[in-house]
Amino acid sequence: METVYAPNGVVYLKSGLIPCTHGFATRVGGISRVRHTASLNLAFGRGDNEATVLQNLELFGKAAGFDPQSVISLRQVHSSCVRTVTASDRGLGYYIQSDFCCDGYVTDDPRVTLGVKTADCVPVLLCALDSGGRPFVVAAIHAGWRGTLAKIAENGVGAMIRLGVRPEQIFAAIGPAIGQCCFEIDASLKDEFFAKFGEEVCSEFIRPSERSPRKWHADLKRLNANLLHACGVPAGNIDISCACTCCNPELFYSHRRDRERRGTMLSVINLTT
Ligand SMILES: [Zn+2]
Repeated sequence: METVYAPNGVVYLKSGLIPCTHGFATRVGGISRVRHTASLNLAFGRGDNEATVLQNLELFGKAAGFDPQSVISLRQVHSSCVRTVTASDRGLGYYIQSDFCCDGYVTDDPRVTLGVKTADCVPVLLCALDSGGRPFVVAAIHAGWRGTLAKIAENGVGAMIRLGVRPEQIFAAIGPAIGQCCFEIDASLKDEFFAKFGEEVCSEFIRPSERSPRKWHADLKRLNANLLHACGVPAGNIDISCACTCCNPELFYSHRRDRERRGTMLSVINLTT
């Protein structure tokens, strides 16, 4: 994963494995002046007025090379729901109000940009390449601990397969999210993970806390990578950001660190190159 410092001041991350337009925004380079949303807040309802959020989206679009009007990013509800979308869905969530909720998108239409919002949850961007190395289907997934438990990443791969993709054609970028260092969970949640993912996987990605008895630390990024791999995505096709959103207040918003007094980041992908 590389950090891009765009000429307009926006800082975002991208993966060398994915050849089409994509990016994981940081909090740097926007115009939000509210202390806790400064400065590239990309969600409504967090303290900025709508015009500020849309200007931030335009700045991120200019930096990463996508049309802000083409983005779909609906209200997220920690579900395992993945929708297949087209150009008719452009603008939903930012420029066009919608009551629909969704935590993942798939498309084979180059006119729409898929967007997922996070502030600790795991953003997963997927791109399928044809035999000539050209991207032909992309997906964006929002996977917090609920979405990870519900295996939304599997549904994302399933939706890509329905558009004609074979799992071995998929390349994945797992963006900045809360790291295992900071994602402490209690015994009941640990037990849920063990029940869903099995002993072997969980003993690799969930470890006991060194400080608190009866607490554990889960690696949500690697649990999602494991889900993709189990669907047939080759391990070498999966790029994982090592950045922890909770540990880096200068670069990222974090819900666990700042609770409701925080902004929200956006991760995007589309089929253009
Ligand atoms: Zn951390």
